[in-house]
Formats: sequence, structure tokens, C-alpha cells
Amino acid sequence: MQFDLLLKGGRLIDPASGLDAQRDLAIADGRIAAIDADIPFDRAARVVDATGSIVAPGLIDLHSHVYWGGTSLGVDADRLAAKSGTTTFIDAGSAGAGNFLGFRRHVIERSKVRILAYVNISFAGIFGFSQTVAVGECSDLRLCEPRETVAAMREHADVVVGVKVRSGRHAGGSSGIAPVDLALEAADQAGLPLMAHIDEPPPGRSEVLPRLRKGDILTHCFRPFPNAPIFASGAVRPDMRLARERGVIFDIGHGMGSFDFEVARAMLSEGLAPDVISSDVHLYCVDGPAFDILVCMSKLLALGMPLVEVLRAATQRPAEAIGRTDLGALAVGAVGDIAVLRLRPGRFTFVDAVGASLVAEQSLVSDGIVVGGTWWPNEAANDFGDTERFEAHGHETHVEVAARHFGHSHG
Ligand SMILES: [Zn+2]
Repeated sequence: MQFDLLLKGGRLIDPASGLDAQRDLAIADGRIAAIDADIPFDRAARVVDATGSIVAPGLIDLHSHVYWGGTSLGVDADRLAAKSGTTTFIDAGSAGAGNFLGFRRHVIERSKVRILAYVNISFAGIFGFSQTVAVGECSDLRLCEPRETVAAMREHADVVVGVKVRSGRHAGGSSGIAPVDLALEAADQAGLPLMAHIDEPPPGRSEVLPRLRKGDILTHCFRPFPNAPIFASGAVRPDMRLARERGVIFDIGHGMGSFDFEVARAMLSEGLAPDVISSDVHLYCVDGPAFDILVCMSKLLALGMPLVEVLRAATQRPAEAIGRTDLGALAVGAVGDIAVLRLRPGRFTFVDAVGASLVAEQSLVSDGIVVGGTWWPNEAANDFGDTERFEAHGHETHVEVAARHFGHSHG
């Protein structure tokens, strides 16, 4: 038998190479072994019929929280993977230097799905976050220690992709911009990018953004007022344009409170599409409004972003942002991480982080994923039959999120 797995008859979309055509894709020894118009059934040990589906690179969720059990906000990556088409979860600073080893030993190494991580500049990581507890990990600057952060980044270099900082009134209390400067020093010393979260000022985006270097990431880039990237008139703030020209990466990071349809519409209409679509999925937004990366992608699709660009923002772009161009593309020889997705027609009501809704005629759903060459079906794929999936959650979420949005901190 030449191949371990054959995905047959799908519409293969690989934004990195520009290929969008019906192709069969075969896997051997954990890697993509062949991409061809017709690969015979009998050449593979296992065949998955992908007729009517989209075969894309496995999705890379650049901003997630998957330190399950070790942090209050963590979700179980393995439970979310097949359902959301995600083959790589990038944890955005759930752990700091003080508890990174536990994250690695108890979660990353045991997980079936790929997990990489940003190390939080705060030694303790995100330690005080729930529906009722909101103690920002950067509110005590004694916790922001670049030496410890860099040491952890070096020790775990095989799974670490950068430094994370959460500045803002909620995550940083009265620390102002200081955590960002400390995180930048750590990022510079380690030679890796910084992912900067913004919430409610201070510090405002106008303080954070000019500090970011080419390849650094602004997450929560389409957050609502206050600290939104647009004026009340809808015009884009000039610092956003300057940052884009400089090569700062704009990442959605939807989460509980950080994605606003009105802001997204304004940004898209001025040609400032997000570079990366990520979910910021955590325990308090996994049942809405963010749900997972596929729902976030479906929202951008509904706002008019073309399908190939939506896919690019969840594959090629995040792979580039973490310097892992062996992921996020469908080339022969590349890692065998694949998402088999479908555009499901129906009537879907999506809800953003401020409770606004958007009705869409289609939504992306997952048939399953291939991680490191192994097929992993989405067991819930056939439960999607109803279009109430988001409507039901949506209305429920509407109320909860509107309330949470003003009382809570996290992106
Ligand atoms: Zn987050």
C-alpha cells in the first residue's frame, strides 16, 4: 500500500499556492505524499470521501486558551479540534514562566492535536479569570520579569512561538504601558514576536501600536469602543494604517468582548481586512459568542471577506506569524495537517461581542481533520442538520455577552 490515507474528490483550496481545484490528496508517514486530479482508491489503506467538501490546510488558531485544568479559562483542545477544523492551537499566554512546565507536561505533550504557545510576560500566566474573578496578571509589575520569561522561552523553544502581554485597565490595572515595554524586551532578547492584547484604556491602542515591530501581533484588532480602531464616524484611525504599512499583524482574537461587527464592516470597507482570524476561545466564550475559529471565519465570510481570504487568514497567515511555514499549506512533503470543511447553506444568526446580530446564508462546518497524517472525524458533523445551532446559542449569548462585556476584562 503506497499511501496511509486518501482524501478523495474534494475541492482543494490552498491559499499559499493559489490552488483551488478538485484534487485528491494522499498522506504517507504523516506527510502529504501526493496531490493529483485522480489518485486510485486502491493505492491507500484508508479513503475518506471528500466529495462536496473543501480540503484545506489544517486551521491554525493563533489565539486560544487550552491550558485545560491548569488555568480557570482553559478549554480542552482535543474536544474542540475536529469540530472546529483546527489542527494547531496556539495558546496565547495562559501560562507564564512559573507554570509553563505544567502546561507542557500535562497538556501539550498529552494532547492529540498540535499545541504551541506564547509565554505570558507575567510569571503566573492568566491566573485570576472567571465570571466573577478578574485579577489581571499584569496588575502587579513584580510579576512581569523578562529574565524568567526568556529563560522559559529558551527551555521550551520547540513549542514556544513568542511572548504575550495583556495590557489595559482590566489585565494590567494601573500598570499602564510598562508590561508592554517589559514584554518587548523579552521578545527582543528571545528573538521572537510579541502578541499584544488591548482592552479598555489605559493604555490605549495609540500607546501600544507604535511600539509594535514588523511581525508583532495586535490581537483584538477589531475590538469595540472604547479603544476601537475606528472613529465614531467609521473612519479608520491613522495609527492602524501606519501599523499595517510597518508590517504589524492584525489578529481578530474574538473572545468574549473583542469583536464588533460595526468595526469589522468599517475596517473591511477601507481595505483593512484582518491578517489573521483567531477565536480567543476560552471557557467563557466557547458556548458563544466566539464558539471556535470556524464560527469566527463564518462571521468574516458573512461580512463579505472572500472564502479564500478567510481560509488564508486561518492557515497561511498564522503559520507565517509563528514562523512555521511547514504548517498552513498543502504542499507535497508538508506536515499532514488537513481540515475537511463544508459550506453549509441555511439561515444562521451570528452574534458579536456587543450583542449585535448578523444573519448569514451559509456557515463553515467541519467534517473532520487530519493531524500528523491521522484522520479524525468530527463526530458531531451530522448533528449540524439544523440551522438553530447558532440561533439558539446566539440568543442565549446575546444577553449573557452584553452583560459580561461591560463587567469583564478578557479579550
Ligand atoms: Zn486571550
